[in-house]
Amino acid sequence: MSAPAGIPLVDLKAQFATIANELREATVKALERTDYILGGEVAEFEKEFAAWTGTKHCVACASGTDALMLAFRSLGIGAGDEVVMQANTFVATPLGAILGGARPAFVDCDPKTLQVDIAAMEKAITQKTRALVPVHLYGQAVGKNLGAAGDGGALTTNSDEIAQKLKLLRNYGSVVKYVHDTFGTNSRLDTIQAAVLRVKLRHLTKWVDARQAAAARFHELLAGIKGVTLPAPCGKEEHCWHLYVVRVEERDRVLKQLQDAGVGAGIHYPIPCHLQGAMKDLGYRKGDFPNAEATAGKILSLPIYPEITGDQQKRVAEELAKAVKK
Ligand SMILES: *Cc1c(COP(=O)(O)O)cnc(C)c1O
Repeated sequence: MSAPAGIPLVDLKAQFATIANELREATVKALERTDYILGGEVAEFEKEFAAWTGTKHCVACASGTDALMLAFRSLGIGAGDEVVMQANTFVATPLGAILGGARPAFVDCDPKTLQVDIAAMEKAITQKTRALVPVHLYGQAVGKNLGAAGDGGALTTNSDEIAQKLKLLRNYGSVVKYVHDTFGTNSRLDTIQAAVLRVKLRHLTKWVDARQAAAARFHELLAGIKGVTLPAPCGKEEHCWHLYVVRVEERDRVLKQLQDAGVGAGIHYPIPCHLQGAMKDLGYRKGDFPNAEATAGKILSLPIYPEITGDQQKRVAEELAKAVKK
C-alpha cells in the first residue's frame, strides 16, 4: 500500500501553478528593462500596496526585519530607548529594535488569544519607552500573506515626512547620488521582487478570502475533537489566517505523529524571544512571561494556504484526532 500524498504546511508550488504565466511575463519584462535597483516596478508596487492597505505612502525595503529597523530609525528611536513588544513573536521583531540601537522590552501574551496582553503593555511603559509594537500574530488583524520570491519588506505611513525619511534611510541616507546628509543603510526591494509582488498583489484579496474559508472549515472539522483548543479570535477584527494555530497537550508527540502521517505541521514559535540565547544580555529569566512560556509548549500550526482543498483539511483533522487520542 502506498502512503497517501503528504499535505505540506505551506504549498508554494500550488500557488505558483496558478500564476506561473503572469510571473514569467512580469519577471522577464523587469529583467529586460535592466532597472534592477529601485526601478519602475518598485515605485508602482509602492503605489499599489499603499492603495491596498489604505495608506498614503508605502516605502519598500529588503526585508521585514529591515522594515522594523527602518521604522524605529525614522522615528529617531535608538540608543537608550525602549520598545515594548510581546515575548511570543518571531525573533526578527526584537532584532529590528536591536539593529536600530534600541532595547526590546518584552511583555506577556493573553492566554486565550495569544496576542499581546494590552494591560501588560501599558504597565511596561517607562520613561525610556518610545514605541509599542503590537505584532499581529498569526495574521490576526493584518499579516503576512504576500510573499515575494525571496526576501522583501515594506512600510506604510500616512506621514509625508516619515515616508521621505524612510526613503533616505533605505538608500545609504541619500536622495541625490553620492550626497549623504544622514547615515543610512542598503535596504532596497529588488525591482524583480517588486515585479513578482505586483503580480501577487492582484490575487491577494482572493487569497485572503480563501484562507478565511479554509479557517472556517477547520473550525467545523475540529470543533468536536476533545483535547484540541481552537484559535480564539480577539474580537470583531478580521483575521487573515496566515497561520492556523491550535493548542494540544503532548505537542511534540502529536507533531511527530502528524509529520509521520504526511501532515506538515509546525510550531510558531517554539522558544519565546526572552529565552533566546541571543537575548540573554537583556537579563530576562524563565518564568518572566508565564503565558508565552506555557503556550510555546502547546501551539501547533496546521497546514493552511489558499489552495488547500476540503479533502486535505479533512485528512488533517482525521490525523489530528488520531494523534490527540493516544
Ligand atoms: C516575518 C517576521 C519578521 C521579519 O520579516 P523578514 O522579512 O523575515 O525579515 C518580523 N516580525 C515578525 C512578527 C515576523 O513574523
